[in-house]
Amino acid sequence: MNYEKFFAEKIAALKDEGRYRVFADLERRAGAFPHAIYHGGEQPRDIVVWCSNDYLGMGQHPNVRQAMHEALDRVGAGAGGTRNISGTTHYHVLLEQELADWHGKDAALLFTSGYIANEATLATLAGLLPACVIFSDEKNHASMIAGMRASRAEKKIFRHNDLAHLEQLLRETPIGRPKIIAFESVYSMDGDIAPIGAICDLADKYGAMTYLDEVHAVGMYGARGAGVAERDGVMSRVTIIEGTLGKAVGVMGGYIAASAVICDVVRSYAASFIFTTSLSPVLAAGALASIRHLKQHHELRVRHQERAATLKRLMRQANLPVMPSVSHIVPLLIGHAACCKRASDMLLNDFGVYVQPINYPTVPRHTERLRFTPTPLHSDEMMRSLLGALTHVWSVHEIQKYAAA
Ligand SMILES: *Cc1c(COP(=O)(O)O)cnc(C)c1O
Repeated sequence: MNYEKFFAEKIAALKDEGRYRVFADLERRAGAFPHAIYHGGEQPRDIVVWCSNDYLGMGQHPNVRQAMHEALDRVGAGAGGTRNISGTTHYHVLLEQELADWHGKDAALLFTSGYIANEATLATLAGLLPACVIFSDEKNHASMIAGMRASRAEKKIFRHNDLAHLEQLLRETPIGRPKIIAFESVYSMDGDIAPIGAICDLADKYGAMTYLDEVHAVGMYGARGAGVAERDGVMSRVTIIEGTLGKAVGVMGGYIAASAVICDVVRSYAASFIFTTSLSPVLAAGALASIRHLKQHHELRVRHQERAATLKRLMRQANLPVMPSVSHIVPLLIGHAACCKRASDMLLNDFGVYVQPINYPTVPRHTERLRFTPTPLHSDEMMRSLLGALTHVWSVHEIQKYAAA
């Protein structure tokens, strides 16, 4: 077989469909966010980033940078081992305590990413429980799906945020079988939010555990920023809360917060926790400083919500097809992969606006979109020039046709 040719054809198929992914070569400037330098054109140029998951700009916050500088100079760059073999630094211990406190749980466990946290935890818990059934929201993230697959447990998929369908599936399942309901709080592509309390009611009624991915909510919702479960007053009802340190916290890493025994069992059985070098202590120190800041600065969250609401309103006023998000995420429907890519290219090259096209398989086909994530650092002036650029792109492209179809 000609392997090279075979793989090249796989790439060509993606290009034909207009969903071949091109990474934007960016140089962020500490203190200048959301401005960045784009290196992908003929020469470097200043652009405004509109699609970062550094939702609050914490990746450049002076406290975070200072904590990381200090940790680097004090203990060096890497952890130097797995958690078990010399890779548990004091920063890891402090960070896990901070995370447990944030979510009102007994314990927390760190992973090298949110992806690994989801994959490892679901694979381990559902794998250990005999004849476990997982109830999974149809829009769950790829990392949760990977964990459920790896567990080999039976999986029942409920329609997105559909309580009646979830209850029907629970009712059909023998009462004696262990159950996990796995879902997210803020769904990152549509910007809608799960009814966490009502899902916990069903979990109580049918004897299920709950697993909640708060990746797109930690830092951003609740009085201390612990997520939507905090905002809704239901943190203590959720069995396991999972989060990332890579989005609003602005650094890198992932975690779960849960009872001591659940954290201990994942710590003790999960291969992708055990057999990998632990997070750099520099990252742990940065995340620690970031969370301590986020807990105390609710005004960041107020401003964040205001910015998102303002952008949605401006788009609606300009008759742009903004999707009905109830969160900080502002998706603009295009509905065609190649068109979405063209609009994004044009915004970047002609207007210095960077927003990545979101195509299948991240979202269903025919719902391709541009996904804007305004932060507290996006000014009115930036919004005005964004709207000018969008209005222009919409007028010269056949985008409207797809969006209407
Ligand atoms: C980004 C994301 C993850 C993975 O988190 P990382 O820390 O980036 O690996 C998990 N769940 C959801 C819903 C995500 O969007």
